[in-house]
Amino acid sequence: MGRLDGKVALISGAARGQGEAEARAFVREGARVVLADLLDKEGEQVAEELGDRAAYVHLDVRRPDEWATAVAAATSRFGKLDVLVNNAGILRVGALETMPLEEYLQVIQVNQVGCFLGMQAAVPALRAAGGGSIVNTSSTSGLAGIAGTVAYTASKFAVRGMTKTAAVELGHDNIRVNSIHPGAVDTPMIAAPPGFEDVDSDSVYAGLPLPRVGKPEDVAALALFLASDESAYCTGSEFVVDGGFLAGPPLPRTS
Ligand code: NAD
Repeated sequence: MGRLDGKVALISGAARGQGEAEARAFVREGARVVLADLLDKEGEQVAEELGDRAAYVHLDVRRPDEWATAVAAATSRFGKLDVLVNNAGILRVGALETMPLEEYLQVIQVNQVGCFLGMQAAVPALRAAGGGSIVNTSSTSGLAGIAGTVAYTASKFAVRGMTKTAAVELGHDNIRVNSIHPGAVDTPMIAAPPGFEDVDSDSVYAGLPLPRVGKPEDVAALALFLASDESAYCTGSEFVVDGGFLAGPPLPRTS
């Protein structure tokens, strides 16, 4: 028996990285999944590999009309919607003093507004299904500041905040809303810059209590728990998956 048997999920940004891993894990555990992304070729390929229990739809999370189409794709293809994973996101690195406004707003549009629009579009379908689960992807940058990521940090704090308001508003409809907070995860988002491709990513994170970089599957396992009925009494909460990054500073090295 699968942990998501009978459930229908919509995952944004599912063409690669963590969203792809979530789609694979959800289908493996019995769900039917709509994968949504801007990267149509990659997304269609993943959906095809997953077979009949997966479908791909084009989605730009900044566009309410495309969210409506994505939710309709889930209900028309699979009959209902039980789970929304707001996963799509972008990172732009730049110091507070020099980041152009345009770049700041790009990040806010995708990470913050995209999450808001996704919840807004999905709630009627979740309510019609008798309830469900929304998993919003924040970051450790939604819990602490990290130099060079002012826009990203602002957007991920916003995701964490709107998760709580949504949880308070929607609990009586049996819709649970939680945020997940990954640390560094080995996906194209944090790919090594040109010239550093050969650097072992685990060695970069050797100072963590769990001394390695995160894998997309580490995050997918958490999203799966929150999508499933195993988390039936969890809402409005923050779930960290960061190898201990936020637990405290590393021990001083003696050798
Ligand atoms: P990724 O770049 O591999 O995947 C992000 C996906 O989102 C891509 O498929 C991309 O096409 C899609 N996307 C971007 N803009 C979009 C838009 N406007 N509409 C629809 N889709 C769009 O990165 P990832 O690491 O898999 O990131 C997934 C989520 O996890 C993001 O929200 C990211 O901020 C968050 N996160 C990542 C890390 C990390 O270290 N990789 C850490 C913490 C949180």
